[in-house]
Amino acid sequence: MNILVATSEVVPFSKTGGLADVCGTLPRELARLGHQVAVVAPAYRQSIECGQSNKSLHVDLDITIGQKQVRGGILRSQLPESDVPVYLIEQDDYYDRPQLYRDGNDDYKDNCERFIFFCRSVLELVRLLELDVDVLHCNDWQTGLIPAYLKTEYADTPGFDSMASVMTIHNMAYQGQFWHWDMLLTGLDWKYFNWNQMEFFGKLNLLKTGLVFSDAINTVSPRYALEIQSAPMGCGLEGVLAHRSNLVRGILNGADYSVWDPAIDSHIALNYTSDNWYAGKQACKQDLGQATGLPVSPEIPLVGVVGRLVEQKGVDLIGEVLKKRLTDSHVQWVILGRGDQKYQDMFLRLAAAYPEKLSVRLEFSDLLAHQIEAAADLFLMPSKYEPCGLNQIYSLKYGTVPLVRETGGLADTIVDTNEKTLAAGTANGFSFQSYQVEKLDQALERALQTYARKEDWSRVVLTGMKQDWSWTRSAKEYVWLYQESSARVQQTVHSESLT
Ligand code: ADP
Repeated sequence: MNILVATSEVVPFSKTGGLADVCGTLPRELARLGHQVAVVAPAYRQSIECGQSNKSLHVDLDITIGQKQVRGGILRSQLPESDVPVYLIEQDDYYDRPQLYRDGNDDYKDNCERFIFFCRSVLELVRLLELDVDVLHCNDWQTGLIPAYLKTEYADTPGFDSMASVMTIHNMAYQGQFWHWDMLLTGLDWKYFNWNQMEFFGKLNLLKTGLVFSDAINTVSPRYALEIQSAPMGCGLEGVLAHRSNLVRGILNGADYSVWDPAIDSHIALNYTSDNWYAGKQACKQDLGQATGLPVSPEIPLVGVVGRLVEQKGVDLIGEVLKKRLTDSHVQWVILGRGDQKYQDMFLRLAAAYPEKLSVRLEFSDLLAHQIEAAADLFLMPSKYEPCGLNQIYSLKYGTVPLVRETGGLADTIVDTNEKTLAAGTANGFSFQSYQVEKLDQALERALQTYARKEDWSRVVLTGMKQDWSWTRSAKEYVWLYQESSARVQQTVHSESLT
């Protein structure tokens, strides 16, 4: 099949979260399965400075945004170690900025306009480069207008009428909501601004738009696909999904083991496999100790946290448990992340008070993320909700036992350790259900007690390390989804041509 993946982030060009990992890996896996795949993303400053070479295609984009014409260009690059082309939409006023979506704590005021330009450019790129596309795979609100343009302005354009659009929800809480006057910038008729299509309580909602106009919908784990079909996880769009529930699928993300595997990871002090994991971990722990100043030791369990420091990730629970545990237990912690100021301040205060037990790094560092995965004994991810979650999947490979809340993709990947699951050889982590500090603390206590029983701990570690969460299986599920939606669209076009 011919697939074009439209995304606002793609590794190694741009990244703020898991979306980038998915869009950097899935296309390569699809290509390996024999499909023609390309990726299209904005040419942010990050994308230009990331070290991947690119060349201009000398094609002018001339895009209408409301009353004005905005010009842009197209750069061509490719995903590393593959032939997958990456088209970068160039428009320096919109994309040549320090961050992807925000300036400090505030979203860029013209985010709606920036992504209207992107969505229109994606379709123009297909037209100008005469790309043969069966499925346009859209990701998150930034691409939500693409299915709408396909079904309206491009509906009668040959080649576009038989193109299917798939909308993937990577996080239901980020919907791209803007004031209603931005509808004028989209260039779409006001008749679509109604509660069945693009409007959401008086605002323009770009994720909703994508969900309504696309030919298929999926999200990034089976559990999350169920959760978002009712409140509160549906974040107000549960009705939209319920209406199209026959089209909603859940496909678990995979890990890119060419990047996230301790056996070949070039960022860590000693490569290790399931045969020498203990020695590998101790070497990596020592190395991280030097980088962070923590006086690490094999006897002291090290808990790692890597992620956005926002409410979703259960950061308030982590804060409460830390306050309790820092005073009275022999556990060390290392936290890497950026996010809300109040959480950053909280962690910095705690780290200043307990420098021998807690190290906090408020930055985005791929290097440290790898080093923490390799060095930590436990990985903490007590998310309030979690569409899929990648870090717990990476942790499994690194023998870093995940402690998670049982929600979304965390529930689909982590099997809680108890007598039964230990005996069955399925236990690969620890989990708890209700979002409460005591529940997290109890699960942590169970984990620490298991850590002290070396044989049991080793079983849990090895079960995780030997599991295969690569993209191979998930990519095939995407192919089925593409085939199904493409067939549906072809059938509609065919029956319309008969009438
Ligand atoms: P989300 O997409 O909700 O942020 P995921 O677990 O799906 O969460 O993916 C997060 C990705 O971003 C992982 O690859 C993780 O390692 C990375 N990441 C998050 N914060 C940081 C950080 N501060 N430094 C380096 N990598 C980070």
